[in-house]
Amino acid sequence: MTLADAIRKGAEQLAACRGQMFVMVGSETISACALGAALWGLLGPTATRREERVALTNHFPALDATVESPCVCPSVRYEYGLRVQDGSKIRGSIGAVIIHLNDIDRWSRERIADWLDTLPEEATACPTPS
Ligand SMILES: [Zn+2]
Repeated sequence: MTLADAIRKGAEQLAACRGQMFVMVGSETISACALGAALWGLLGPTATRREERVALTNHFPALDATVESPCVCPSVRYEYGLRVQDGSKIRGSIGAVIIHLNDIDRWSRERIADWLDTLPEEATACPTPS
């Protein structure tokens, strides 16, 4: 399952949230950010377990690949190692860019998935496990 397809699958099952991976009421999971949706799409309800959240980049190694964000945010906060080049182009890991698009630019998870599909295959290829 690709990262984009996992996000789409999770987004079909949970409402959107920002600023945290999952929103839970009691034991019920009601919403997920883009990364939470990916984990949920891959694993289902066990996605909310702490050990699965910690293992996010093991499930989706492409999250560590460096990309240029599709947005233009000159005043980006330097969250999660994002940095600005040439005055407006944001670069960082795919995971950090996804968090930025979800939380700051308020993109839908489906739009984020569509953007992931536009990336060159080498950008989202899984590195060889070490
Ligand atoms: Zn932005």
